[in-house]
Amino acid sequence: MAKKRRQRSVFHGVPAAPGIAVGPARRMEDPSEAVEERTLAESRVEAEVARFREALGRTREELTRLRAATGRDLDEETARIFDVQLQVLEDPLAVARTEKAIRTERKNAEYLFRRHMMEMWDGIKALSDSYFSERAVDLLDVKQRVLRHLTGNHVVPRERKGVLVGRELTPSEAVALDPGKVLGFATDAGGTTSHATIMARARGIPAVVGVAGLFERVQDGDVVALDGFRGTVELNPDPDTVVRLRSRKQKFNRLEKQHAKLVSLPAETPDGHRVRLSANMELPAELDYILERGADGIGLFRTEFFFMWSHRAPTEDEQTQVYRDILDRVGPGEVVIRALDVGGDKLASYMGMVKERNPFFGMRGIRFLLAHPKLFATQLRAILRASPPGTGRILFPMVSSFGEFRAVRKQVKLAMATLRRRRVAFDPEPRMGVMVEVPSAVMMAEELARSADFLSVGSNDLIQYLLAIDRDNQSLQDLYRPHHPAVLRALKHTVEAGHRHGKPVSICGEMAGDPLSIPLLLGLGFDQLSVAPSLIPDIKQSVRAVRFEECRALAEEALRCAEAAEVTALVHRRLGSEFSDLLRLIEDSNGHDARPAGRRGRKPARRTS
Ligand code: PEP
Ligand code: MG
Repeated sequence: MAKKRRQRSVFHGVPAAPGIAVGPARRMEDPSEAVEERTLAESRVEAEVARFREALGRTREELTRLRAATGRDLDEETARIFDVQLQVLEDPLAVARTEKAIRTERKNAEYLFRRHMMEMWDGIKALSDSYFSERAVDLLDVKQRVLRHLTGNHVVPRERKGVLVGRELTPSEAVALDPGKVLGFATDAGGTTSHATIMARARGIPAVVGVAGLFERVQDGDVVALDGFRGTVELNPDPDTVVRLRSRKQKFNRLEKQHAKLVSLPAETPDGHRVRLSANMELPAELDYILERGADGIGLFRTEFFFMWSHRAPTEDEQTQVYRDILDRVGPGEVVIRALDVGGDKLASYMGMVKERNPFFGMRGIRFLLAHPKLFATQLRAILRASPPGTGRILFPMVSSFGEFRAVRKQVKLAMATLRRRRVAFDPEPRMGVMVEVPSAVMMAEELARSADFLSVGSNDLIQYLLAIDRDNQSLQDLYRPHHPAVLRALKHTVEAGHRHGKPVSICGEMAGDPLSIPLLLGLGFDQLSVAPSLIPDIKQSVRAVRFEECRALAEEALRCAEAAEVTALVHRRLGSEFSDLLRLIEDSNGHDARPAGRRGRKPARRTS
C-alpha cells in the first residue's frame, strides 16, 4: 500500500535562538496526555496490579531520595513537602481504589490511576481552602511521577536525533538536552527571555517559541524545518524550502568562521572607548567554547543550572572544586559567580519548592536564599574558598531593598567566620555586586551603589517587572520592549547612581546581546556587557562599528522619545543594519525586519497549509 503523504504546513512563532534545523520531529509527550484506555484479558489482571505496585514503589523510592537530599541541603521544614507527597501515595482513595478497579473493570493501571487522581483533584479544588489547594498541587505532582513510571514516557525523548516539539520546555528539561541529539526545538509556549530559551541560545540549539497550535498538529516523524532567525517552523517542507534553508545555514556557518578573526580584538569603538565584553555562562561545560570566543571573562555565571544538573545539590567541596577550576582557567578576578537564583520558572525538585500561584512574584532569588541559610552558606563558603584573596566576585539576584543586601552581607560574614574556625584559606575581601532587576532596586540604586562593589542590570527581569509583562508569556511578546523609554530611563538612572559612587555598572540580560541595543547601551554609559557566548563576536563587531560620540548622541535622543517604536526607528535611521552581521543575515531572510533572533516581537499567529 502506498504510504500516506504527510501534509505540509507553515507555523510562525517567536525567533528565540539563532540557527537552522531540519530533521524528524520528536514530540515531547506529557505522560498524562499519552494515557490510553485499554481493556485487559482476565489472565493479565494480576500482572497489571503488580505493575501498578512496582510503579508506586519506584515513585516512593524517588520521593524518599528527594526528601533526604532536601533535609540535608535545605532544612527539615522544606523536606516535609515530600512527606505530604509520600502520604498521597498511601491514600486509599487513589491507590486501593485503583487496584480494586483494575480487578473489577479490567482496565489498564495508568488509565484508572489518572481517573482517580483527577477525581480527587476536582474534590479538593472545590473546597477552596488554601491548605487543601496546596495539597492539590502535591497530588498533581504525585500523579505525574507515577504515570511517568507506568508509561515510561519521559517528557523529553532522549534516544533519537531530531527536532523537539512540545507545549513547553522547562529550564530543568532544557539543561538536560543533548545538543548532539537535539537539532532544534519549537514550543507552543515560551518567550525570548524564558530560561529554557536562554539555555538553548547558550548551547547553540536553534529554537522557535510561541508557535501556537504546532504541537497539536505535529506527528512523530514529520519532517521539521525550523528557522531560528525568522521564527518559522515548517512541517513536511517541499524540497525547495529545504534547499533554501540549507543555503542559509551555510551562510550562517560562513559568518561564524569570519567572526573567528575578531577573537583577539578588543571591544572598542572606533574613537577609542573600551568596554568589557564578557560571557554569560549557564554550565561549566561551556567553558571551552567561551574561551574560544574571545570574551573578557565571565560576567554572569548562572549557577542554578549547575544545581539543576543532578537530583541533589552539589556539596561544598564539589562546588569549591568546580568554581576553582573555572577561576583557574579564566583568570583571577575575571568571573562573576551569581548566587543561586531559583524560583520563578526555575525549579529544582530536590529543593522542595512549593508551587506558587504567582511564582515570579514569589520565593525567588535572594528571598529564597535568605529563607534557606544552610544552602546559601554552603554556596558562599564554596565561592570564598575557591577565590584567591581579592579576586572573588559574587553577584546577588533579585535584591529588592537595602535591608536585603545588608542581610546578604551578614551571611557572607558568617560564612567567613565558619571558614576561619575551620582554618581553611579563603578570600576575605570578595567584591559583592547587586543585580538591578526589580524596579525598587532602580529606585534604591543610590544606596545600593554606595554599599555594593558593583551593579549588574538584569534586563530580562527588569523589563518584565517594569512593564508588567511576563517574560514567559508568548502572547505578550510584542509588548516586551527593551527600547521602551521607561526601560531606558531606568537604565540611565542606575548607571548614573553607580558612577556617582565610582562603581562599575554592567548589563547581563538578553538586551545586551541585541545588536540594535548596543549603541544605546554604550551611549548610556555601561562599563560592561555580558552576553550569550555565541553572540560575543557579533556584539563585538557592533561595538567596533559605531563611534562612542555618536552612541551618546543617540542615547540622548532616545531618552527624549515617548515610545519604544520611535527608539527602534531612530537606531535604524541613524545606523541601518550595516554594523552587525546578524542583523544583515536576518534582513536577508525577510527583507525588512532587522531585529535579531530573541529580540523580535511575535508575528501574528498564522498558519498556512
Ligand atoms: C536577568 O533577569 O536579566 C538576568 C540576567 O537574570 P535571569 O535571566 O537569570 O533571570
Ligand atoms: Mg533575572
